[in-house]
Amino acid sequence: MQKMPGTEGNRDVSAQQTIHVAGEWLSAASGATREIIDPADAKPFAIIAEGGTEDADAAIAAARKAFDEGPWPSTPVAERAALLRKVADLLVRDREEIGLLESRDAGKTLEEGRVDVDCVADAFRYFADLVIGEGAGRVVDAGSDDIHSVVVHEPIGVCSMITPWNYPLLQASWKIAPALAAGNTFVIKPSEITPLTTVALIELLVEAGLPAGVANIVTGPGHTVGARLADHPDVDLVSFTGGLVSGTKVAQAAAVGVKKVALELGGKNPNVVFADACATDEGFDTAVDQALNAAFIHSGQVCSAGGRLIIEESVRERFVAELARRAEKIKLGRGTEDGVECGPLVSQQQREKTEMYVASALEEGAVLRCGGKRPEPSDVRPATGYFYEPTVLDQCHRGMKVVREEVFGPVLSVETFRTEDEAVALANDTEYGLAGAVWTTDSGRARRMARRMRHGTIWINDFHPYLPQAEWGGFGKSGVGRELGPAGLAEYREAKHVYENLAPRPVRWFAG
Ligand code: NAD
Repeated sequence: MQKMPGTEGNRDVSAQQTIHVAGEWLSAASGATREIIDPADAKPFAIIAEGGTEDADAAIAAARKAFDEGPWPSTPVAERAALLRKVADLLVRDREEIGLLESRDAGKTLEEGRVDVDCVADAFRYFADLVIGEGAGRVVDAGSDDIHSVVVHEPIGVCSMITPWNYPLLQASWKIAPALAAGNTFVIKPSEITPLTTVALIELLVEAGLPAGVANIVTGPGHTVGARLADHPDVDLVSFTGGLVSGTKVAQAAAVGVKKVALELGGKNPNVVFADACATDEGFDTAVDQALNAAFIHSGQVCSAGGRLIIEESVRERFVAELARRAEKIKLGRGTEDGVECGPLVSQQQREKTEMYVASALEEGAVLRCGGKRPEPSDVRPATGYFYEPTVLDQCHRGMKVVREEVFGPVLSVETFRTEDEAVALANDTEYGLAGAVWTTDSGRARRMARRMRHGTIWINDFHPYLPQAEWGGFGKSGVGRELGPAGLAEYREAKHVYENLAPRPVRWFAG
């Protein structure tokens, strides 16, 4: 079995020590292990510990002890920020190794893996800057010189973090960086399919000097380890990123203990294109190019994927023809091969789910413009890999499953509109509300659309960029709470009002 670089640190890789509790690297208490599969050829390339509830309990106990008795919650903000910056530097140092690991684990291209590492370093730096820039609290005017009233923010305590397989390192960092900046301790459970870079990140936290017990990781399944992280009485907050079905279970489990819950769930994201955006050759080319990127980057396995193209009827045929022509040319293959633009789906299950959605759309009357099948194997595309061709489905409507539900594969559905009101109605016709885009050269219309579209992020004449300074999250069933930005730090804190009477006197409410 090949050892992947960047995952060794001070632990014994041959003993599958991917559980980190109270400063120690451990195998699963049960001794169970799991093979990690490279989706480009379906072959195992690493082995990890398959933790269970016993391991989760030990990790939560360690995080609880580190929070209640350890130095981290009261470590000066400047020291916490310095540690976060050190982690960012270590990520830059290990960019190639970790980028490669992410590429093999999640099936993305090597360049995407590298960009993910850059974004993770940015998140650590951003939260370091944010806490350093804050004052010591907000003084409140209590209406009397005898009263000093101040609202301060304190760490919430022990945080459970549960993350998905599509952006394993990035999603982990949006939780870990603010949680540490705020002074919390945590236990993270990465997706059982793609845990390797989260293990590598914990190694960097240890190397940066985080005290034992502050950062704990348990690799293992959702229904055991994840469920325990959600319902354990010693956990104060559960932060979950993943699908609607598991997110609902996590919220239900956490509700029993009245824990704070943050949920980042799925999306069914509209990409609305007005005809005026395509009036010039340059505008047309840009809108088509970005529609491709919106739908097919990382084979569509992106929560904010622009999987619904909603286009003004007058330009549909020209736009869809060009989109399909270019989609057919996307180079599919193993993400580490030169020239490959898109990797495989993450698993056989994910490819079968994609195939099911395409079949159901065709049964419901969609017209296949390209893709719709597994590609032929090639020298960069092993026959055993989970590849699927970028697929454009024309003539779709809101009654179709493929339009309503999150596919999480390289599938783009096309709907049309004639008026701005129709475009808004279509863009908002989803139970989700994560992100959406509008393409137009009319700035008044662009801003009207941005205001009327009920999604957590709106892009005008762009798709996909996010900023660590700006909140990320969804309306509707896309989630509860926000990551990134000041609200992303606030998730990991409790507000406390300290009211000090500088001249105490009896109140004489009771006469006796
Ligand atoms: P998933 O819901 O299957 O799994 C996510 C995590 O939850 C995994 O670690 C899994 O082990 C765990 N889990 C599963 N069942 C659980 C349970 N009963 N209790 C506790 N934990 C449990 O999601 P996935 O397939 O890994 O990821 C894809 C989903 O994630 C998509 O819906 C996507 O939109 C969403 N996502 C959202 C965002 C966002 O920012 N909103 C970002 C990335 C991914």
